[in-house]
Amino acid sequence: MASHIVGYPRMGPKRELKFALESFWDGKSSAEDLEKVAADLRSSIWKQMSDVGIKYIPSNTFSYYDQVLDTTAMLGAVPPRYNWTGGEIGFSTYFSMARGNASVPAMEMTKWFDTNYHFIVPELGPDVKFSYASHKAVNEYKEAKALGIDTVPVLVGPVTYLLLSKPAKGVEKNFPIISLLDKILPIYKEVIAELKAAGATWIQFDEPTLVKDLDSHDLEAFMKAYSELKTSWSGVNVLIQTYFADVPEAAFKTLTSLPGVAGYGFDLVRGAKTLNLIRTEFPLGMHLFAGVVDGRNIWANDLEASLKTLQSLEAIVGKDKLVVSTSSSLLHTAVDLVNEPKLDKEIKSWLAFAAQKVVEVNALAKGLTGEKDAEFFSANAAAQASRKSSPRVNNEAVQKAASALKGSDHRRVTNVSARLDAQQKKLNLPILPTTTIGSFPQTVELRRVRREYKAKKITEEEYVKSIKEEISKVVKLQEELDIDVLVHGEPERNDMVEYFGEQLSGFAFTANGWVQSYGSRCVKPPIIYGDVSRPNPMTVFWSSAAQSMTKRPMKGMLTGPVTILNWSFVRNDQPRFETCYQIALAIKDEVEDLEKAGVTVIQIDEAALREGLPLRKSEHAFYLDWAVHSFRITNCGVEDTTQIHTHMCYSNFNDIIHSIIDMDADVITIENSRSDEKLLSVFREGVKYGAGIGPGVYDIHSPRIPSTEEIADRVNKMLAVLETNILWVNPDCGLKTRKYHEVKPALENMVSAAKLLRTQL
Ligand code: GLN
Ligand code: ZN
Repeated sequence: MASHIVGYPRMGPKRELKFALESFWDGKSSAEDLEKVAADLRSSIWKQMSDVGIKYIPSNTFSYYDQVLDTTAMLGAVPPRYNWTGGEIGFSTYFSMARGNASVPAMEMTKWFDTNYHFIVPELGPDVKFSYASHKAVNEYKEAKALGIDTVPVLVGPVTYLLLSKPAKGVEKNFPIISLLDKILPIYKEVIAELKAAGATWIQFDEPTLVKDLDSHDLEAFMKAYSELKTSWSGVNVLIQTYFADVPEAAFKTLTSLPGVAGYGFDLVRGAKTLNLIRTEFPLGMHLFAGVVDGRNIWANDLEASLKTLQSLEAIVGKDKLVVSTSSSLLHTAVDLVNEPKLDKEIKSWLAFAAQKVVEVNALAKGLTGEKDAEFFSANAAAQASRKSSPRVNNEAVQKAASALKGSDHRRVTNVSARLDAQQKKLNLPILPTTTIGSFPQTVELRRVRREYKAKKITEEEYVKSIKEEISKVVKLQEELDIDVLVHGEPERNDMVEYFGEQLSGFAFTANGWVQSYGSRCVKPPIIYGDVSRPNPMTVFWSSAAQSMTKRPMKGMLTGPVTILNWSFVRNDQPRFETCYQIALAIKDEVEDLEKAGVTVIQIDEAALREGLPLRKSEHAFYLDWAVHSFRITNCGVEDTTQIHTHMCYSNFNDIIHSIIDMDADVITIENSRSDEKLLSVFREGVKYGAGIGPGVYDIHSPRIPSTEEIADRVNKMLAVLETNILWVNPDCGLKTRKYHEVKPALENMVSAAKLLRTQL
């Protein structure tokens, strides 16, 4: 029985690639140094899979930045502004596209489906001259072969590539990018021919767009593309790989009737419905790559359950046609559990990172052929059982409280305009009140203090003193700047999710559980393994200390339940909404404690609410319903005079504006400045918004300091579509990553813009 891995993390078990990339970018090491680190990572990954016994080992899933950008390079689709003059694309052009250079900005980056991975969006139009400009796929195949390992080269499929592209600058917005298929297929054919010549016997085309809502036109493109490519691949087996959700019936029909294909890969973790289609409509004689090991999470597989599924599939497709696989590339999970010596033993027994998942896939394949590793299976079964019954997972009181929330509604009793009146009486703010989003610059010194406290190198007393000094500095600065609603600056927080996770029960943290977010950037999501509760107040100490330093209102600062959920590895033994409700109840306790402590403005960040939106439109309403409900649960019990703020990042909100309104916050601050005021267009189109709103007036992602005139101009544009009495003036997001020499003048200009406008209204 065969085993297959869709793709593997490229960053390395200790983020070796990250450090090599950053050192190269900083000019501290050479291109050869970087190439050496990359080659070592690739070979160790291939060897590891080969030693385990995996039959179909992927190559070309390594990337110096992103696999979609690699495809852009392969096709020579470099936007003209990078002045590429032809030939094989090297680091300089490649990294300029990824990150920009001194004279040109980077290409746009966007989320890869519903993951936290970001890809570089190809910019295409009728004038792009495609050419075969990166031989990476072939080179990596040969590199593995030279090590004695025959791999399956992986390419981003041509249709997915085009469907993820956007029209280049100057190209009409509705230009049918899919019409470029004819121009890119010849290059794909060259690649296939070279791979074949190099000895490849299988080629994998990743076509994950097949799980999205596609129209018949898009589906025809698949037929056209593969009918054409087929002419160049005779003698090679072709696998079309899908992932991240079930494949809708129409797409399944198209996929399984593509000519000349040898196998199809499906995500059977998120795609339970595909299982039904396979049972009734899978074509005879084809290989089924059954993705039963979850590539999106860190939980150990329930091997016995998977084995049953696989056995039932074997009965349909035949013994020699079933291949055990991962549900998606392992790019989206952590790398190796071996590097977690400090993690609690019992919790560790419930987990599997990429390296362990490879072993699971192999064990399942062997299990199917009757060579079952009994010891491995029984250890797995024991871990599954301990996870089910462990008191660290189960907290009956929490379960009861959370399930009581379902089906009921939670809203503040008074409507938002009456609440705003009551709040204004208490807060007495000027029109166009100014505020910031929460964090202030995190200096080296500050990070040192936190690190030393964690390592017990300084006492709690010393730590509290340092943090209070920092808060007091930030408070003074805001008073000098004459900001109306202050923040404490979040100096005690390393990360807006980790800070809360560390204080809630049911969360575990890893030392090296990094997952690539984009380029060299990685995130280390907490692991939610059990029922969530809040043993003690989490922010009251710092927020009340901060409030005592000023007469102005000081915002209490919390991370909302949906964001905590979406930025964590979530348990897979109950629905996501169940976990979200539990977190909501914990945050609700915190909100009420803050209110009791005299904090009258409380911000509950939902930076990641938009991110959790499911891939399929038909599932949006359900998600938004429980997500928005969870948010309301956190603050439905507060007084009218307590002002609830929320904050959201990323600009594309127009499609969920009604859900945002339904969150029923008193004030929302929202990223806006990078999106050409896209956000404002919904209000222009007549959406009624009665709560307070602060569309960001300047981009905090850039070191640039906006002028007073520019900010005033922006606010004026907002005033054209929003009532004067609901508009707030604030930056796009937190100021954590900026320097004080940027933050001070920028905020100074922001406040003067607000003051200038107040005199004109
Ligand atoms: N309050 C957080 C901060 O200012 C919000 C960060 C975010 O939205 N990503 O840092
Ligand atoms: Zn933000």
